[in-house]
Amino acid sequence: MRATKAIIHLENFSHNLNEIKKCLSAETKMCVAVKADAYGHGAVKCAQVAEKQGAAFLAVATVEEGAELRAAGIKTPILMLSLCAPEEIPEAVANDITPFVFDEEYALLFDAEVLRQNKKDYCVHIAVDTGMGRIGVYENEAASLAGKISLCKGIKLGGMATHLAVSDSVTASSVEYTKNQFEKFKRAIENVKKEGIDPGICHCANSAATLAFPEFHLDMVRPGIITYGYYADEVDREYLKSRNIDVDLKPVMTVETSVCAVRDVFKGESVGYGRTWCAEENTKVGVLTAGYADGILRNYSSSGVKISVNGKLYPICGRICMDQFMINLGKDGENGTVKRWDKAVIFGAEEDGALLTADDIARLTGTISYEVTCCISKRVRRIFINS
Ligand SMILES: *Cc1c(COP(=O)(O)O)cnc(C)c1O
Repeated sequence: MRATKAIIHLENFSHNLNEIKKCLSAETKMCVAVKADAYGHGAVKCAQVAEKQGAAFLAVATVEEGAELRAAGIKTPILMLSLCAPEEIPEAVANDITPFVFDEEYALLFDAEVLRQNKKDYCVHIAVDTGMGRIGVYENEAASLAGKISLCKGIKLGGMATHLAVSDSVTASSVEYTKNQFEKFKRAIENVKKEGIDPGICHCANSAATLAFPEFHLDMVRPGIITYGYYADEVDREYLKSRNIDVDLKPVMTVETSVCAVRDVFKGESVGYGRTWCAEENTKVGVLTAGYADGILRNYSSSGVKISVNGKLYPICGRICMDQFMINLGKDGENGTVKRWDKAVIFGAEEDGALLTADDIARLTGTISYEVTCCISKRVRRIFINS
């Protein structure tokens, strides 16, 4: 097998789900976000663990993602968080995927297809835009849409949702914005109730809100990133500790490769495309068999990202290539213990020898942990460690 692989610790995923559950009341349901192949971790395996752990829903972004879970035998209700194209609706309905709807046109397309396929008790959830500016009815439009859905013969209103834009920021103005979003959402729910319509399962809390705003849990929470072991930005371990919330998350994914060669690069010689790195002394350079086609992105090159080999960090030298990149093992004679075929760990769990997490890489390269794990490409084999 190729040395470049992603080890997926399903036991850590399971542990994280338990840690999250400890923060929920017994009545609060959990919808685990497994969109984008479970943030790169493997949607089917993660969904199976989440299902076993009693997740009430799984969340996907696309019909294909939902259909993949159904084909693998997942029975748990699946919420689709993004809109699909009209031509995908037959497949969405055939796979019992619960869509977010926010306008009559889209809702009626689902209604017609549900009737055509003669599906019973087919639910949709109304998305309410309370300040994300993406999808959703405005607060004062929710009741009218709920009314129209209640007249449909095919679809039923199964729930109402909103999405928080800055719940991962703890500044006073962000917290105020988040609270304001929640108030708008509650008013939208009240407006639906006033029409005599049951709003169904109401939910708004993403990872950050699940941990930092217990008062926003309502009927269900929708955590994503925390299930994979990463805190959501400023709602980190220290912030939560300061508020007496103790959640211990463990990274689920480790990405590793190997040192396929240890080379002598002589003083003045360059390494890699563009000749961006030149040896100031005679230097040992390790060549690794992973590159940006694996999701070790080219902008990691001169970002300060370092690679861990045998418990020590080594800087990247030169630009990351498509399939290989090089690390600086140090001046000739001072390069320590790195040998050919040694394991090199890019990020992940400590137990695999990782010294950086996806969060560390994200901080160094100006992104978020979500993007670091999502970008690990299909070429990287996922090796699942069972729970
Ligand atoms: C992705 C997503 C989530 C989960 O977000 P995290 O920040 O990973 O917890 C929840 N709700 C919606 C609508 C989403 O798109």
